[in-house]
Amino acid sequence: MNEQLKNGYFKLSGIKVSGDPEAEGSSARLEQIDLLLAPGEWLNLVGVNGSGKTTLARLLAGLTMEGVYGEMDRGFAGFGPSPYVMQHPDAQLFGENPREEVSFALEWRGVPADEIPDRSERILSWTGLLPIADWPWEQLSGGQRQLAAVAASGAAETPLLVFDEATSMLDDASRGRVQQVAGRLCRSGTAVVWVTQRLNELDPYSRVVALAGGKIVYDGAGRQFLLGDGLGGKGQTPCEQCGLRLPYLASLAIEMNRLGKLDPHSPLPVTAEEWREVLKRP
Ligand code: ADP
Repeated sequence: MNEQLKNGYFKLSGIKVSGDPEAEGSSARLEQIDLLLAPGEWLNLVGVNGSGKTTLARLLAGLTMEGVYGEMDRGFAGFGPSPYVMQHPDAQLFGENPREEVSFALEWRGVPADEIPDRSERILSWTGLLPIADWPWEQLSGGQRQLAAVAASGAAETPLLVFDEATSMLDDASRGRVQQVAGRLCRSGTAVVWVTQRLNELDPYSRVVALAGGKIVYDGAGRQFLLGDGLGGKGQTPCEQCGLRLPYLASLAIEMNRLGKLDPHSPLPVTAEEWREVLKRP
């Protein structure tokens, strides 16, 4: 890659995060992490529990951490922490209601006071929170509270947003809504780091970085992560090698391909939409 092109990139080189120095035999939380993150890209960070996802996500968000070695250049993400959306919305809400939450976030990010009402209104409107913007948290569902946390995180249009299993406690409808808002923020130019274990929602065209034992064991396209290059061979796919369960639609594709039932010249289908297209073919 051309050096000039890399300038805006967020770069991690040879990063190590040591384990707990008090705990005997504790291993490093992260080791040998080399990562380039481009402005505006969507990066899925996956791995089993304890593989280092949260440690890496917090590091990317610029949250302070002990025992970090190696080089980090935040590039396009700039100085200061990036918004970080956690699994439990209640741990990150400071205001009394969605409108106040968004206003606080804008104020904290240094947006001039006279711009705050309009900008708050805009993000509340396109996240669908406007009708309930002044309701107290007790009257809102977990999904609505998480959406308010996402709206507050996205309000200041920072160049990077980190979502750490932000939808894992939500029902399907709320999960879809939060993911939709995150997608829209990404399409408007914000880079998104999306920590997840829900591989059935993976966009096969998006980038996957998989961690195992604190190291990056895969960095590439979602489809290859799920299916591997063998496309139906006997070996395990990168997803399975990480100890993660293959989503049903991806394992069905591998099985049908093995039986010779799928077009060998087309990419194997892994999403419901792609399966619909395959099944429509004569
Ligand atoms: P994941 O998000 O994939 O579940 P984590 O990043 O939370 O993984 O944890 C990676 C490793 O670091 C685990 O072995 C965990 O026990 C350890 N760890 C997590 N938080 C701390 C901490 N604050 N201090 C020391 N070790 C930690």
